[in-house]
Amino acid sequence: MPCKEKSAVSSAKPTILVTGGAGYIGSHAVLALKDAGYEVLVLDNLVYGHRDLLETVLKVEFVVGDTTDRPLLDRLFQTHDIAAVMHFAAYIFVGESVTDPAKYYHNNVVGTLTLLEAMRSASVDKFVFSSTCATYGIPQFMPLTEDHPQTPINPYGYSKLFVEQMLSDFDTAYGLKSVRFRYFNAAGADPQGRLGEDHDPETHLVPLVLQAALGTRESIAIFGTDYDTPDGTCVRDYIHVCDLAQAHVLGLEYLLKGGRSQTFNLGNGNGFSVKEVIEVAREVTGREIPVKLGERRSGDTPVLVGSSAKAREILGWQPQYAELHDIVAHAWQWHQKRHGFR
Ligand code: UDP
Repeated sequence: MPCKEKSAVSSAKPTILVTGGAGYIGSHAVLALKDAGYEVLVLDNLVYGHRDLLETVLKVEFVVGDTTDRPLLDRLFQTHDIAAVMHFAAYIFVGESVTDPAKYYHNNVVGTLTLLEAMRSASVDKFVFSSTCATYGIPQFMPLTEDHPQTPINPYGYSKLFVEQMLSDFDTAYGLKSVRFRYFNAAGADPQGRLGEDHDPETHLVPLVLQAALGTRESIAIFGTDYDTPDGTCVRDYIHVCDLAQAHVLGLEYLLKGGRSQTFNLGNGNGFSVKEVIEVAREVTGREIPVKLGERRSGDTPVLVGSSAKAREILGWQPQYAELHDIVAHAWQWHQKRHGFR
């Protein structure tokens, strides 16, 4: 009997602090961590995150607060046996980052620095970071690989790049090991319909197209039809949020096993135009989706497609839902549930 008890104790997985765990990608990562047997503690300021998902779906311990709140962070590290941090808490609106860069540098950069300093004093040295392909700026070659030059074209991209740089310097100086994931276009939802995308304001293509299908939005505006792409609309690499979440669990396990710091792209390597996304949404929903042809949105790059070969090779990451049809279908299921059928 004692042996059994002992083995039960030794097989228990450690506690992971997830910042931004009430947000879109963070909440899916919390679910994936729980499914993999980890204890999870969420820190989220609930400015954009959803308390109801934490309470009714994720059912994890959570603390409402900011990553800039050092005394709070110190308390969390003192009162919990935290083995690693997954950091999703960040502001994500590119346009707003241009008009209010202070907000982005304060939360995304100062907040992350505060978190890293609190980790340092608590001797927590493993960090999984939610970065973005927006750190690359205008592509010089395609598909983008991790060694592509990084010259962002907006403060949001810079805020993520600065953190990547801090992580690299913290590794050299203090031995902090990190995995940095540069996401392409996250979309989709938990296939069981428990979680999904619910931003306010919503700016992303897939949920906006589905709002138009649901009737909660009159139409979808296509931002630019004169790009140098096959149908004139922008091309993006859409990746299922559950595949992103799974990559985070793999990245965490890589670090827990003693892996060195790494950067990985996360995308499917397939480009779809805005018009193609709308067409797939028509197939999935069986509904009319009224379209308005609009002007280009400032700061949009014509084509963004990434290579994730490195994540496959080093982490053994295998996307489960690489088909755009599945990505949109899961998002549709969630939208109907969350925002009602009309
Ligand atoms: N897009 C669009 N209409 C919208 C929202 C987005 O045509 O209402 C386009 C946008 O210009 C981009 C693509 O859809 O080419 C994906 O945009 P999203 O904001 O979802 O992600 P981004 O690529 O900007 O990170």
